[in-house]
Order: sequence, then C-alpha cells, then structure tokens
Amino acid sequence: MAARRLVNSLPRRKKYLILTAAVFAANLFLDRFTKYLAVRLLTGRGVIRLLGDSVLLYLTGNTGAFLSLGASWSPPVKYLVLLYLPLAVCAAALFHLIFFENRMGRIVIMASIAGGGVSNLLDRLFNNFEVIDFLNFGIGPLRTGVLNVADLSVTFGAIILCIGELAASRKKTAPAPALHDAAPRGTLAAMGTCIFCEIAAGRVPATKIFEDDEILAFHDTSPQAPVHVLVIPRAHRRNIFELDPAGDDGIAGRLLLRAAELARAQGCAEKGARFVINAGDDGGQTVDHLHIHVLGGRPLGWPPG
Ligand code: AMP
Ligand code: ZN
Repeated sequence: MAARRLVNSLPRRKKYLILTAAVFAANLFLDRFTKYLAVRLLTGRGVIRLLGDSVLLYLTGNTGAFLSLGASWSPPVKYLVLLYLPLAVCAAALFHLIFFENRMGRIVIMASIAGGGVSNLLDRLFNNFEVIDFLNFGIGPLRTGVLNVADLSVTFGAIILCIGELAASRKKTAPAPALHDAAPRGTLAAMGTCIFCEIAAGRVPATKIFEDDEILAFHDTSPQAPVHVLVIPRAHRRNIFELDPAGDDGIAGRLLLRAAELARAQGCAEKGARFVINAGDDGGQTVDHLHIHVLGGRPLGWPPG
C-alpha cells in the first residue's frame, strides 16, 4: 500500500523512466544470466534435446547478426552494421523512451528490444564480436536459427511493435464509425461503442457518485490519487475540441461547476485538487468521450508527463 502510494505520488515522467529502466534491466539481466548458464552448463555437452526435439540447446558463437547474417563481412563493415548502427538505434530508442513516450505498452516493448539489443552488443564488444547463441526451436525440418534470449526479446518486441503500429495507422486512416458521423451528436445512435456512453446508458456498471439528466460522475477504475472522479456529459462529445461554441456553452459551464462541487463534496476544497481534461493523442486521451478528471487527496506533482 505504501509502495503504491509512493508510486502514485511520482510525476508521470518519473514513472515512465522507472518502467523503462526496470524493463530494460530485466531483459538485459535475463539475457546475461541465461548466457552465463549456457556457457557453464552446455560447454562440451553437445546437443541437449527437450520436448521431443522441439527445443534444442547447444552452445555456438555467432560472429554475424541474427541467423549468422554478415559473419563473413570485412571488419569495418561489420563494426558499422553490426555494432555502431544497432548501438545508435538502441540509444535513440532509449532517448525517445526517457523523454517522450507515454504509452505503457510501447515503453515495455521498446525497452525490451533495447535491453536485448544492448545485451547482444555487449557480447560483440567484449567477446571478440562473438554473440553467444544456444537456443534452437522447431518441429521436424522446420527450425529457427540458433538464438539467445536477447534475440527473442528483439524479435517478438519488433513483431508486436509492428502489429501495434499497423493497427494504430489503420485506426487513424479508417473513416470514423458511421454512427458517430451520421447520427446527430449526443443521440443514442451516435454513441457507437463508446464506453462512457454505455455507462451513461446504464449498460456498463460504474461507481456513480452523481447523476442528473445531462451530467454523470463516477469513480475512475484506475485511480491515480485517493480521490479520482470522472465527470462527463451524458451526450457524446469526443473531447473538448468537439464542444459546439454555439450550443454547448451551457453544458461546458455546468460540467465545470459540477466538477468543483464534487471535489468539494470529496473533501478537496480546503487542500486543493486538480481538474484535468485530456484531449486527443498528444493530450493522452484514452477514452474518446469528453470527461473531466477530478484528482485530489494528496499533493500532486507538476509539471505533468
Ligand atoms: P483519459 O486518459 O483522460 O482519456 O482518461 C480515461 C480514464 O477513464 C482513465 O483514467 C481510465 O482509468 C478511466 N476509465 C476507463 N474505463 C473506465 C470505466 N469503465 N469506468 C471508470 N473509469 C474508466
Ligand atoms: Zn460517448
């Protein structure tokens, strides 16, 4: 509980930094440790067969890249392609994670790739360009090359990253769901599959603390502070940019006043609270239905991540 409170009290950027460092170190450590074990346990042992030959363990030194690509290149090319370039990529990835990335999934995947990548580069730097490989997977004649744990971090990380990017770019280029476009804003038909519209309609449960015919407030399921309440309009507006200056000024004002009123009711008026409206990708909005976060009950760090 105390640890959770401590983590919650850290500014977001620091949390992302800690996550980056922990995932990076875990992948690096796992690869170093398994390589250490492989050298200790597999040297001079030939091939160890596991699970009916689907996993083979044997020690090899790979002086090329993945699947021994480039093992016969001249030293300058090898240094450039297999050491300096990957080092620069890992450094760029870490720089991005430390200063810019704010999606947890991305941080875990990219830090895993960087951790695995750096571990293999350490082999190259300190082991005469030879990367320790000892894992081979396959069924019958269909087999992978000889790998190590870092290769798994890098390969699976890269695959997941690519799939994520593809899915995200599809989401961006796909036309908005017809329901949102075609139906009048704020009607049931306009709601599509919006989770907050579902809560407003009573089809998805939430711990409500206030509702009237146009506003709803409920506890956030992933509270970032002892008080973390979301205040939403019943009518669907994607975010603050979608408020209509001509017709939504009334509800905008009432939302703000209601948020203040609820913060007061939660005991935050005296010590203070924070009212946050995230909007769009850069704003860190994850639920596309306008909402005000009411946060309080502890001192909150600034600036935000
Ligand atoms: P934002 O990142 O500003 O879009 O905030 C969305 C917030 O909604 C996050 O803090 C989530 O934890 C919260 N949230 C998502 N789904 C639910 C839900 N079903 N009930 C309550 N809060 C939710
Ligand atoms: Zn909605």
